[in-house]
Amino acid sequence: MSFEAVLLAPGAEPRRLRVAGSDGPGVHHLRDTGDALSISHALGRVHRLVVVGGGVLGLEVAAAAAMRGVDVEVVEARPRVLGRGVPAPIAAWIVALHEQHGVRVRTGAAPDAVQRSPDGAVRGVRLIDGTVLPADAVVVGIGIEPREHLALVAGLACDDGILVDASGRTSHPAVFAAGDAVRMRRTGESYGIRLESFSAAGRQGEVAAHTMLGRDDTFADVPWWWSDQYDATLHSTGVATPDAREVLVGTPEAPLVLSMAGERLVAACGVGHGPEIARPVRAAGRVIAARGRVDVRELRTSGGDPASLTAAFRAAARASV
Ligand code: ADP
Repeated sequence: MSFEAVLLAPGAEPRRLRVAGSDGPGVHHLRDTGDALSISHALGRVHRLVVVGGGVLGLEVAAAAAMRGVDVEVVEARPRVLGRGVPAPIAAWIVALHEQHGVRVRTGAAPDAVQRSPDGAVRGVRLIDGTVLPADAVVVGIGIEPREHLALVAGLACDDGILVDASGRTSHPAVFAAGDAVRMRRTGESYGIRLESFSAAGRQGEVAAHTMLGRDDTFADVPWWWSDQYDATLHSTGVATPDAREVLVGTPEAPLVLSMAGERLVAACGVGHGPEIARPVRAAGRVIAARGRVDVRELRTSGGDPASLTAAFRAAARASV
């Protein structure tokens, strides 16, 4: 087929657990609806589940399983869970919540084999240090890899993602790309970021389509994502730069961590029981979009409940435009 413009939106592939015994029934990876249904079905039958990977996906599955009465252990290779983009105090809050629900969270540990009985059923997971965790099923949530094969074969620039500019253009002027497969360089950025979120994928597709049709459009959204676990909701917005200073505000029941580049707010991540935490985080997103400043001392004295934080961020956003 010939074309004037083409869009690549191949998405991403779940990273596979590659250890002895990991191929076969009872070891689940989660990416699409079919995977979700088969995990949901399995949770009705298993007693002991090992979740490999303490990222958002792994922890959401752990919560769903624990709520269905399954005995759950999470195995995370790094020193703490949610290491990619969630500040340590928020991750600690989530771990405490899991422990209250009886889930064990083991960090600094990784599987080196899935043990099976002679009939092939999963019996346990052996860790690198030799510990064996009994299990009758395993769910793997160890991240995704962008599907860049086609782009590489076509000679497009890739670097852990198909490289695109803020309008979705790849290194070839007639080829565009969007979604989980891309690493997008937004306006003013020298190196792109991969945004593995529903909201970014939708908007990137729209931006690329507009550009392909000859209408100017760029992706300028402040990234945003959320996670529901038990009765709790975590909301996160912005991108924390490595040198950003983290400031903890909020309350013990609903902590919020702000990432500050000097006086400027660049990211916010909060968690709490119920949906209320969404409001201050969304309001913080508007401050970030306006490249606004916040007075951390004032936020600390505001009482820190979600409603007063929301009011303070709204005022800061108004003051920045
Ligand atoms: P997702 O969004 O799919 O949850 P993340 O990349 O946020 O993916 O999280 C994946 C987690 O899995 C990370 O915390 C990472 O350290 C962890 N991980 C990766 N490989 C292993 C492994 N072999 N064993 C245990 N944990 C792993």
